[in-house]
Amino acid sequence: MRVLIVGSGLYGAVCAHELRRAGHDCHVIEKRNHIGGNVFTRHVPEAGCHEHVYGAHIFHTNSKRIWDYMGQFAEFNHYVNRVKVAHEDSIYSFPINLFTLYQVFGVRTPDEAKACLAKDIIANDNPGNMEEYCHSVIGPTLYKLFIEGYTQKQWGKHPRELPADAVKRLPVRLTFDDNYFNDRYQGIPVGGYTAIIEKMLEGVRVETGIDFHLNREMWIREYDYVIYTGPIDAFFDYRHGVLEYRSLRFERLLIDSHDFQGNAVVNYTEASVPWTRILEHKHFDMNQKEPMTLVTREYPQAWVKGDIEYYPERNAQSEALFEQYREEADKISAKIHFGGRLGEYRYYDMHQVVASALAFCEKQFV
Ligand code: UDP
Repeated sequence: MRVLIVGSGLYGAVCAHELRRAGHDCHVIEKRNHIGGNVFTRHVPEAGCHEHVYGAHIFHTNSKRIWDYMGQFAEFNHYVNRVKVAHEDSIYSFPINLFTLYQVFGVRTPDEAKACLAKDIIANDNPGNMEEYCHSVIGPTLYKLFIEGYTQKQWGKHPRELPADAVKRLPVRLTFDDNYFNDRYQGIPVGGYTAIIEKMLEGVRVETGIDFHLNREMWIREYDYVIYTGPIDAFFDYRHGVLEYRSLRFERLLIDSHDFQGNAVVNYTEASVPWTRILEHKHFDMNQKEPMTLVTREYPQAWVKGDIEYYPERNAQSEALFEQYREEADKISAKIHFGGRLGEYRYYDMHQVVASALAFCEKQFV
């Protein structure tokens, strides 16, 4: 088959690799002037590391199959995400673990921590929003310190107006384990993510700087099948309305210091600090040799047409709208497939993107 893949992010690149292997003729077109979508990284010689240009990307998965799959394209380092929280004059261990509870409440053992939380939480079997959920799991003290301000900045809404889903990603542990993820496999590719995408796209025709939407009908006519990884609402010219997204702005600082913050990720959870986190890229590469360092301040912002859609903002209203687009997509599924974070309108992590792309390729092409 002659297959057009719109978008060279992780979903498009995995599909291109699998389809080429299965003997199909693939052509990838990409709107930006580089491949890789939001996993794009570039080498910054002054800081001796790879910059996560569109925000931190830490690969983690519980699936040996997905881990081994990625292992074909790169060696992964032993980076483990251990975030710190800066709040007023203090630094806290995060995600919430026994050391955090020691720092906040002075408790030293799992039993003491359990008893302390039991006193603080507001039991609720049926929390109606993120605030109620947090009150019922970690109590108001920890919620105020770690969740309320950060979430307000991240989503532009108070946690009382949000579903609890996003926060359920975060572990809460009564041990000293401060790993951000529970998954068995975790790391950052040595050499960056762009090198992975390049390998996936080896032998595939790739063109950057091409906006599919400018000539959509022509592209669709020319190919037997189209895999579209852009926003599903944009494909249909927003005819039912615009889906909700959250965007980000990054402020990049090359600093004349060997080590700025001693960690890859520091979250700023107060509402009064405008950024949500500061990334220090050399710590992702686990390379602290260079005399300079590169840091990025991350500012969440409202999404307006033309901005990059970073986070699908799923709520009852946007899900109902997405369903309308999905019904439209189903009608043309013999010719066009919608995939990836934007095509499927899902708050996917990278391992989920890879799994979704592989499942689709197996079903449709093998
Ligand atoms: N969150 C928070 N405080 C933090 C970190 C996360 O309140 O210090 C909440 C916030 O609502 C966020 C969600 O937990 O959207 C998920 O956080 P995660 O770090 O997994 O988000 P991502 O890295 O995908 O932006």
